[in-house]
Amino acid sequence: MKLILLGPPGAGKGTQAAQIVESFGIPQISTGDMLRAAVRAQTPMGLKAKEAMDAGALVTDAIVIGIVSERLQQEDCEKGFILDGFPRTLPQADALALTLSGLGKDLDAVVSLQVETTALVERLTGRRACRDCSRGFHVSFDPPAAEGICDSCGGELFQRGDDQEETIRNRMEVYHQQTAPLEDYYRQSGLLKVVDGMAPIAAVTQQVLDILKAI
Ligand code: ADP
Ligand code: ADP
Ligand code: ZN
Repeated sequence: MKLILLGPPGAGKGTQAAQIVESFGIPQISTGDMLRAAVRAQTPMGLKAKEAMDAGALVTDAIVIGIVSERLQQEDCEKGFILDGFPRTLPQADALALTLSGLGKDLDAVVSLQVETTALVERLTGRRACRDCSRGFHVSFDPPAAEGICDSCGGELFQRGDDQEETIRNRMEVYHQQTAPLEDYYRQSGLLKVVDGMAPIAAVTQQVLDILKAI
C-alpha cells in the first residue's frame, strides 16, 4: 500500500497514519517529525529548517524532497509507505512522481481528510505530542490515561511551539495557497479519495481502512 494522507494542519493525518501502520505494517513517513528531529539534533538541515517551522511557513522544497527521496529508498518502504505531510506543494508532488517512477513504484491512493477550519484550530490548540515516540494526543478529544504522559512509551507530552493561534493562522494560509491545489492534481490522476475528517477518530479510521481494503 503506497499512500499519501492529505489535509490541512490538524486534519488528523498523523493520528490516522498511526492506525494504518498498525493495520498494514507499513512505515509512516512524516516530514514534520523528521524535520523536528533534525532541529532537535541541530543538524545543518535542522538549522536551516527551524526558522520557517517556527513561523508556520514551509521549509524549502529542496530540503523536504531530499529527505523523502532518501527515506523512500530504505528497505522498510519496499512493501509500501504512508506519506504524512508530504507533498505540500506542486513541485514536491512532481518530485515525488519522479522519485517513484525511478524506483518503479506507483501510488495506490491519496486520502484527503476534510475538516472545517474552526475544528482545526480547536484540534491544534489542544494537541499534545510525545517527546520520545511522537505519538499525538488531544487534551479533550484523545486524552492520555495519565495527564502529560504518553500511553505508548511513558514519555513526556509537550505542546508544539507552532500550535499557537497566530502561527496556526499562518499555517492555514500557507495550506490554502500552496497545498490545497494538490487535491485537484490528484483528482485528475484518479487517485483522490475524500474522507469526512469531522467524524470522531475511530469513525474516520473506519472510513480510511474501508477505502484501503477496497484497493
Ligand atoms: P495532522 O497530522 O493532520 O496535523 P493530528 O493527527 O496531529 O493532525 O491531529 C491534530 C489533533 O487533533 C491531535 O490532537 C489529535 O488527537 C486530534 N484529532 C485527530 N483526529 C481527530 C478527530 N477525528 N476528532 C477529534 N480530534 C482529532
Ligand atoms: P501539521 O500537519 O500539524 O501542519 P507537520 O508536523 O506536518 O504539521 O509540519 C510542521 C512544519 O514542518 C510545517 O509547518 C513546515 O514548516 C514543516 N514541514 C513539514 N512538512 C513539510 C513539507 N512537505 N514541505 C515544507 N515544509 C514542511
Ligand atoms: Zn511516547
